[in-house]
Amino acid sequence: MVLRSSNIRPDMARLWSSLMRSAEIGRTAKGGLKRLALSEEDGEVRREFVRWCEEAGCTVQVDGIGNIFATRPGSDPDAKAVLVGSHLDTQIKGGRFDGILGVLAGLELVRTLNDHDLTTRRPIVIVDWTNEEGARFEPPMIGSATFTGQKSLDFAYARADKDGVTLGQALDRIGFKGADRLSPDTFDSLFELHIEQGPKLDEAKRQVGIVTGAFSVRGLIVEVRGEVGHVGPTPMPKRKNAIVGAARVTLAIDDIGWSRHETGGKSTTMRLKVEPNLLGILPDLVEMTCDFRHPEAAVASGMLAAFEAAIPEIERRSGCKVTIKEQWSYGGMEYDPGCIALTRDAAEDLGYSTMDLLTEAGHDAMHVADYLPTAMIFTPCEGGLSHNEAENVTLADIEPGVNVLLRSVLNRAGIA
Ligand SMILES: [Zn+2]
Repeated sequence: MVLRSSNIRPDMARLWSSLMRSAEIGRTAKGGLKRLALSEEDGEVRREFVRWCEEAGCTVQVDGIGNIFATRPGSDPDAKAVLVGSHLDTQIKGGRFDGILGVLAGLELVRTLNDHDLTTRRPIVIVDWTNEEGARFEPPMIGSATFTGQKSLDFAYARADKDGVTLGQALDRIGFKGADRLSPDTFDSLFELHIEQGPKLDEAKRQVGIVTGAFSVRGLIVEVRGEVGHVGPTPMPKRKNAIVGAARVTLAIDDIGWSRHETGGKSTTMRLKVEPNLLGILPDLVEMTCDFRHPEAAVASGMLAAFEAAIPEIERRSGCKVTIKEQWSYGGMEYDPGCIALTRDAAEDLGYSTMDLLTEAGHDAMHVADYLPTAMIFTPCEGGLSHNEAENVTLADIEPGVNVLLRSVLNRAGIA
């Protein structure tokens, strides 16, 4: 049965009240959220989420990395489940909706099915992925990467925050180191609803983003090695100031982004670690975290190649040694055509305006997409502002996306 003319609608006031309850847990003075992965606040919102899921009749399982899976059974005991969710952790100065909307919309979906006493053929599983943001433990999206087997549990447990607390210890502290083993094989598909985190939907006044795939990302750690010396007497020709080398690297990377920006290219230097970082001393080491992003994988690789080609000149001008110490890449995939079609049909049936988009940020759905049919749905967010305490949406902004999620998932899961 396909839900074309159904009038099943989520209770948006109830969803909003859950979102606002979440917004109290880790609230910052400026009205955003600081709810780092596996912090006390993350523990609190997780307990609240588990309570809500159990009240809605779900069975809750927690896997070794602390991903929470809340299952509403289906009628067919052999049918694999449809996953719906996102993440409840936030950035250090994060907003109230990034990730949280996707998890709580999954909860609202289950509550709505309960209201109508409807059973789906496939089970529906709401998921909260651990440490999506990577603001406390690196790399980001480690919960989904452990779920898919791209990262091992041992690797994940050993990640340490800036105070030396490991991810494994943090899981123990908040009581979310589970023993359940769940793997992608257990599931049929994944749907993730998320705020866009960019301005396209808001500017074009479109109600729903149909996410067809993801930008290609090439990340790198660049090491710039110079030589310590006194900032006074050391003559200019003899200096090997690692900050000067890092500045030239930063400008080269920025230029590469600008030279591809008309086709969607972006480049960023986002973090510098400087040593010894002291008054009066020429620094001898800067470690830089940078990335290149582009809709086309070949162009993203070309941006990286352009940077490699620029290194000899940067070395000549700065007197420093520039090395790419680490590299990684992700994204560049397309979401599942069948799942995308369900989101597109749902938006069309409901009469919403849409825009096809690629995601430019990282999401757990990108990891899962290599293993399960996956789709993402974007809602507009005010001015495209995200990873910011002022991140904002209205109920009217999210209602279309929540409805599209509900209908797509029900059509995938089937009504018994
Ligand atoms: Zn997010």
